[in-house]
Amino acid sequence: MNAFRTFRTVSIAAMAALFLLPAQTFSWGFAGHKLITQKAVMALRPQLRAYFLPIADSLVAHSIDPDLWRRVDKAESNRHYIDLDSVATFPFDDFPVTYRAAVKKFGENVIQGIGIAPWRIEEMVDSLSIAMKQKNSRLILRYASALAHYVEDIHNPLHTTKNYDGQLTGNKGIHSRYERWMVDTYLDQLDSAIHPEPGSSPGRRLMPTIFNWLRASYVWVDNLLLADRLSKTPGKRYTRNSSYEDAYYERLFRHTRDFTVLQMSRAATAVAACWQLAWHKAGRPRLDFLDAEIAGTR
Ligand SMILES: [Zn+2]
Repeated sequence: MNAFRTFRTVSIAAMAALFLLPAQTFSWGFAGHKLITQKAVMALRPQLRAYFLPIADSLVAHSIDPDLWRRVDKAESNRHYIDLDSVATFPFDDFPVTYRAAVKKFGENVIQGIGIAPWRIEEMVDSLSIAMKQKNSRLILRYASALAHYVEDIHNPLHTTKNYDGQLTGNKGIHSRYERWMVDTYLDQLDSAIHPEPGSSPGRRLMPTIFNWLRASYVWVDNLLLADRLSKTPGKRYTRNSSYEDAYYERLFRHTRDFTVLQMSRAATAVAACWQLAWHKAGRPRLDFLDAEIAGTR
């Protein structure tokens, strides 16, 4: 098992220290997640946006929580991805979209092994919907930010493939180079380029929509691996992550900028759509109490 997916038991002191370290390489990096979540709030339809705006800072701050949970909770590790190409081939048309049918086809161990992100998203939509119905502000914040995180994760192409760190194609380490080092370096440029589609909704058929998002994400895997190869200085030996120079990241950003902006914009659109869906399922309750109650939970 790769370090990304290996759970280590840690002492309380070590755990506290972990929280002080920079983001580990699990998803869009902390900065990327926060940026997309912020864009998602702005992409909401006016009514829900009015309810979420007062808690936007808290939503943004907590959108990285699932990556913190996975450091201390073994059950968290496989909720952030699904390696579709482990058991199926693109465009994954015969991949069952319900958990029950997927388990029936491949077996529970296989499904748990390749990752369960799509069904985690479904679960978070339901949990958020219940929390909204119950007007439980603490749980609304918890589930809305976690939901954002998982939806954002599957829009990172590397969260849809067994070659998630380029380890099968000589691109080892691409996961953190792409989602963390490159995104962090070029965050301002991404910020001004990301434009989600406002007011969209997945409709009532959430699972087929999630699998469409996965397909649209997966198609960039090969481009990303090629971009990594093209960005290296010919003849230079890259032995560790620190061997990658500024010029490499400049080239990597140039080669991947367009689809990274596209995927981050789509991620923000999808997060807003999932929040809308949860609210709709809850019966569109008034959430004007959110402001005062969760102020200070950042
Ligand atoms: Zn994650």
